[in-house]
Amino acid sequence: MDKNLIKEVAKIIKNSKHLTGFTGAGISVESGIPPFRGINGLWNTIDPTFIEINYFEHHYADSWKDIKKIFYDFFGQAKPNPAHIAFAELEEMGLMKAIVTQNIDNLHQDAGSKVVYEFHGTASTLLCLDCYERFSAQTFKFDPMPPKCPKCGGKIKPDFVFYGEGIPEKAYRMSMIEATESDVMLIVGTTGEVMPACMIPTIARQNNAKVIEINIEPSALTRGTTTHFLKGKAGEIMPEIMKEIKKL
Ligand code: NAD
Ligand code: ZN
Repeated sequence: MDKNLIKEVAKIIKNSKHLTGFTGAGISVESGIPPFRGINGLWNTIDPTFIEINYFEHHYADSWKDIKKIFYDFFGQAKPNPAHIAFAELEEMGLMKAIVTQNIDNLHQDAGSKVVYEFHGTASTLLCLDCYERFSAQTFKFDPMPPKCPKCGGKIKPDFVFYGEGIPEKAYRMSMIEATESDVMLIVGTTGEVMPACMIPTIARQNNAKVIEINIEPSALTRGTTTHFLKGKAGEIMPEIMKEIKKL
């Protein structure tokens, strides 16, 4: 870990006027949730067709078998790690104004972050496709499978964006505003390959924001968008940055 770079980044964050976080699956890897792409990526072993909207609509029972196994039985157990906690602390200190996350795991909110724009929605609520009622995944009775709306018996879909669906309107609008308003953007754990999410840091950079990136390997953003690249694990680097910020 480059101590001087950590110190420089701490100073930039401390002196920022509008710091925005931008996170991807990598920030949750140390919480036990695998990423989709890259090393140990879920899509290396599982075919993601089950969360294509068209497939889901025509193979409801089949899709739900995998959805429940991956997003509820398994992801549901995860707890925030030191990187999520550092992000919440930065907000508490008045430094971080908002987080734009591609994650659907609710771990930023679990860590205490308040202003979180979920670009790809969330797994923590479920939507009835017939009566549009929403249900908390924590208390939802999935059995018998496939699940049915407890109110109207209709089809249930997790509130995250499936392949083939658009970005939730409010999250999209607010994320674009954050991208233009931030003078510093802190990116953690994203390949920067998923469109249109990957536009957020690019727009921030075009508006002259400093772009700090933490990742175990360079991403699609590192060369052209990032101004300060910290190579390593989010859960190890973020606490180091926080230590330095607190000394300033
Ligand atoms: P990704 O899966 O494409 O890439 C993950 C990135 O994290 C990679 O660049 C990898 O090098 C990096 N990484 C891995 N371990 C890390 C660590 N310990 N510290 C720092 N970086 C680390 O993720 P993505 O770019 O966010 O896009 C995939 C899409 O998949 C997102 O839209 C998201 O909705 C979804 N997704 C969400 C979750 C979640 O909610 N936790 C998990 C998997 C995928
Ligand atoms: Zn219903």
